[in-house]
This record gives sequence, C-alpha cells and structure tokens, in this order.
Amino acid sequence: MSTAKSAHVVPYYRPQGRECELFEAAFRQRLPLLLKGPTGCGKTRFVSHMAARLGLPLNTVACHDDLSAADLTGRWLLKGGETIWADGPLTAAARNGGICYLDEIVEARKDVTVVLHPLTDDRRILTLERTGETIAAPADFMIVVSYNPGYQSILKTLKPSTRQRFIAIDFDYPTPAIEAEIVAQETGIARDRADRLVALAGKLRMLKGVDLEEGASTRLLVSCASLIVAGLTLDEAIETAIIEPLSDDADVKRGLRDLVVAVIG
Ligand code: ADP
Repeated sequence: MSTAKSAHVVPYYRPQGRECELFEAAFRQRLPLLLKGPTGCGKTRFVSHMAARLGLPLNTVACHDDLSAADLTGRWLLKGGETIWADGPLTAAARNGGICYLDEIVEARKDVTVVLHPLTDDRRILTLERTGETIAAPADFMIVVSYNPGYQSILKTLKPSTRQRFIAIDFDYPTPAIEAEIVAQETGIARDRADRLVALAGKLRMLKGVDLEEGASTRLLVSCASLIVAGLTLDEAIETAIIEPLSDDADVKRGLRDLVVAVIG
C-alpha cells in the first residue's frame, strides 16, 4: 500500500481521449470508477495524475489473492501494552477523504467486494464490525478500481452485482503517435527512435493470444527507451526490456528476435 498525501507535483499523463473529463465528472457526482485495460497501458499513472490534479490524497492498494477485507479496513494492534485501532487504506480514505485505488481488484478475496458495496452505492458508508463504527464517507471520497480483462477467467471476474456499481472506462495502449510522444517525454529519447520502438510494439501486440499471453506494454517501451538513454545498445535494451519480460520460451524468443530484425533492422 502506498499513500501520497501531497499534491504539489502533477505526474505527467498524456490523455488518450476524454478520460480526464470523465474522471472529474465521476468525482463530482460521487460515482465509483472502474478502469479496464491491459497491463502497463497507463491506468495507474492516470489515477495519480487525476488525484494530484484534484488535490486529493491517494491510497493505492495492489490487490492479490491473500488480500482480505481487514487489510483494507484496518485492524487492532498491540502497542506498548495497549490495543489501538489502525485504519487500513480504505478506512483512511472513507474517514478523511481522498481516492482509494484498488489495482487488479479481481485478484482480491470475495470478502473485499462485500466491504465495498455500501461504499459504492448512495449510502456511501463503511461499517467496521470490529470497532462497531459506521463511517459516512465525505464528499471528496472516491473509489477507483482497475482490472485487466485479458487475464479474466471464470473464477476471476467481477460479479455483475459489483461491477454495475461502477461507471467504467475502457483503456488500451495509446495510438502510435501518442505512445511515441509518451515514450519520448518519459525518457528523453529522440522522437524518431521512440517511433521505431512503438512500431515494434505494434507488431508484438499482434502476437497476443498466438505466441504471447500479453503484448509489449507502454511500460516496457518506456523501460527500453530509458536503457537506451542510459547508454545501452538498441539490441541490449530490446533484449532485456522487451524480449525477456515477454517470454520464457526459447522458440518464442527466437521468433521475437526475428521480428525485431524485420521491424528495426
Ligand atoms: P497500468 O496501471 O495500466 O498497468 P501504468 O499506469 O503503471 O500502467 O503505466 C506504465 C507506464 O507507462 C507509466 O509509468 C508511464 O511511464 C507510461 N504511460 C503509459 N500511459 C501513459 C500516459 N497516457 N501518459 C503518461 N505516461 C504513460
């Protein structure tokens, strides 16, 4: 869990469409927001950008299959012989205001969604069974969740009763021109080199579902470009930031290298 309290610096975020306006409208209307999209396409950056822009504290939780409701709401702790209550990230946001962002929500245990329900309808309350307290969330409290529909399995999906509480934005990798702009802006690499990496990513993404579980993300392109800026050769950067993270299979990696030669030379 990470908490960003100050909103002095607004992290760079290049919009792909009207998602910033949609986010602001959702916040003003107190609607919870669901962001769908592949890994590394900018969802987390978008949320930190919007939190800073709106001057809201941001509590981010990376969900995993052991994450329980108590991890979000809080627990009793023993401190110097005393038992004190420590708010979890969801309770902290519901009590003090701000955004609680649950990344990869489908990974969390089922009891987590139960806790979210009264906070995501017009009651906007959080009941802490362990303290007997009921918290009414302030106007500037917002829940944002994200998940990657590409990883979806029958077992790991949001129930309609949960997902229909959220308005949703579908994210994808940016268009080539925007993606190259992002890669150049994030790393300082020359625009023509960013264009070539983005062209490569475009080809690699076509292999999704065939040879690769997931295509090369914007995050991988940014990592690759930063290695180049740090002085690595193009080949080294592509090998370590793109090919190795994408596959463990020797045949697949060989195929990817052939594709790199065909696209980049
Ligand atoms: P996700 O949360 O979808 O997995 P992130 O938000 O962590 O992905 O994005 C990964 C990286 O890609 C960011 O750290 C940033 O460098 C870059 N990035 C992706 N999309 C954008 C964007 N629209 N504007 C700025 N940076 C972006």
